[in-house]
Amino acid sequence: MSQIPPADSTPLEDTDPQTLTAMEAALAEARQGRDEGGIPIGSVLVKDGQIVARRHNRRVQQGDPVAHAEIDCLRNAGRLGSFQNTVLYSTLMPCYLCAGAIVQFGIPKVVVGEARSFPGAAELMLEHGVELIDLDLEEPAALMRDFMEREPALWAEDIGEAVEATPAARPESDTDQPQR
Ligand SMILES: [Zn+2]
Repeated sequence: MSQIPPADSTPLEDTDPQTLTAMEAALAEARQGRDEGGIPIGSVLVKDGQIVARRHNRRVQQGDPVAHAEIDCLRNAGRLGSFQNTVLYSTLMPCYLCAGAIVQFGIPKVVVGEARSFPGAAELMLEHGVELIDLDLEEPAALMRDFMEREPALWAEDIGEAVEATPAARPESDTDQPQR
């Protein structure tokens, strides 16, 4: 079994310029998602040192269960030909859905803001040779903490955990129909 690398506690401002720029963009996406009433997770794709796509989780906004930040970011990137020389940045450790896409497309490196609020699918990526760096930053963790406290059911739904079923609206019985 692959060993999860220890979290890196270097402050974001002390990381290399690409990491700083990309993670700040991912955090801006996460904040935008929060401000839209969605789940505060942002993702950025860098290819050959340039940001080529950025998005945030829009599952709530679009009513789309697979509109995770990383998936939507890859969709936003369009056809790149190859994912060689790409790095995917995400404010949160990718889940199995997103890790599956990372492995499938051969994205060689993933940098995450934090994995404290959700362990994600780190092992799946490591087992497939993805280089994985956890920056262990406070800001994305705080965004998630606030969100999980405010919207526990919404978060449970995001990661496929059971939520209390909302009773479906029942149709009005015939006897309640107004008389013609
Ligand atoms: Zn995901």
